Amino acid sequence: MVKAKIAIVGAGLIGLSTAVCVSESISNCSVTVIADRFTPNTTSDVAAGMLIPHVYPDTPVHQQKQWFRETFDHLSVICNSSEAPEAGIHLVSGWQIFKMIPDEKIPFWSDVVLGFRSMTPEEMKKFPQHQFGQAFTTLKCDCPTYLLWLEKRLKEQGGQVQARKIENFWELHKDYDIVVNCSGIGSNKLVSDQGMYPIRGQVLKVHAPWISHFIRDGDGLTYIYPGIHNVTLGGTRQKDDWNLSPDPSDSKSIFERCCALEPSLQRAQDIKVRVGLRPFRSAMRLQKEIMARGSEKLLVVHNYGHGGGGFSVHQGTAKEATQMVQECITMLETTGYKAKL
Ligand SMILES: Cc1cc2nc3c(=O)[nH]c(=O)nc-3n(C[C@H](O)[C@H](O)[C@H](O)COP(=O)(O)OP(=O)(O)OC[C@H]3O[C@@H](n4cnc5c(N)ncnc54)[C@H](O)[C@@H]3O)c2cc1C
Repeated sequence: MVKAKIAIVGAGLIGLSTAVCVSESISNCSVTVIADRFTPNTTSDVAAGMLIPHVYPDTPVHQQKQWFRETFDHLSVICNSSEAPEAGIHLVSGWQIFKMIPDEKIPFWSDVVLGFRSMTPEEMKKFPQHQFGQAFTTLKCDCPTYLLWLEKRLKEQGGQVQARKIENFWELHKDYDIVVNCSGIGSNKLVSDQGMYPIRGQVLKVHAPWISHFIRDGDGLTYIYPGIHNVTLGGTRQKDDWNLSPDPSDSKSIFERCCALEPSLQRAQDIKVRVGLRPFRSAMRLQKEIMARGSEKLLVVHNYGHGGGGFSVHQGTAKEATQMVQECITMLETTGYKAKL
């Protein structure tokens, strides 16, 4: 039987999770991940890795919920296994707090996370500036650890990785049957997607091992997320800003806002600044495309535009992209590989 040659462009969270899902679910294929940046230098490495969904305005809510549930269930199994420390997955409990009572007191994802409830008046005493809060337990990924673990799993399945910048998907036409586009913000240029834009995020990674609960302001701008190796303090949301250099005034503002919520952070040490560009789109792009150049055809599966919530939905979108790859293979088998459609 002919093996389909699949190139996955992107070695961030979306590329690696899709590559693992494809190689574990489809036997008659070979998978190569091609990227110009690998961990620890991707956007995915900067993220806090919390499983709290971001809302995609033009993607149906039931679809977002399904992806979140699939991701939560998948990571829960890893978290409950001996692999958890190597994969960098752990449970974390804490509070999401609001200065004004939100219109939606119960978000769509409340029955996916664990033990979701309103905070008690006693709990709210810690946050005198806030009127309302939600307590729950969710999962968190230590991002560079999780990416390394995904890469290891891919290699165990026979997958390969290649460092290379792609200017145009047609470069891959000669050597591959299917291209999977997981290039994140790179899609802005690679597929000239003008609907894609960065939302710049600056965070501080600090040593403060006494912080055990997460605190997230409901506006999504200020957050304190304790992890295995450090605590992530955030953040910023700067639309259309491509600047990857740390901004000292952003760092000052983040630190002050986080200390206002958790004064003990004044004692935090070893403060490192990281910046990443969230790959924004009003709806995520999960789609098959047959690209054409003269008489030649190239099968492409797009999986990008995860914005500020890639960690929360990545397994759900990887599964859906894998299904599309399977459909492409079936199409190639029907039409004959040589003719390439
Ligand atoms: C500050 C910050 C905090 C965040 N916190 C969270 C959080 O707590 N929870 C959550 O769910 N999400 C969070 N996110 C969002 C999350 O990080 C993203 O949704 C996710 O990382 C997107 O992954 P990606 O693989 O699409 O992109 P990336 O990680 O950017 O990977 C893209 C890959 O494509 C490659 N590539 C691009 N163009 C080319 C090309 N032309 N040729 C070759 N390779 C190319 C790159 O080299 C890279 O390997 C956060 C993001 C930021 C910035």
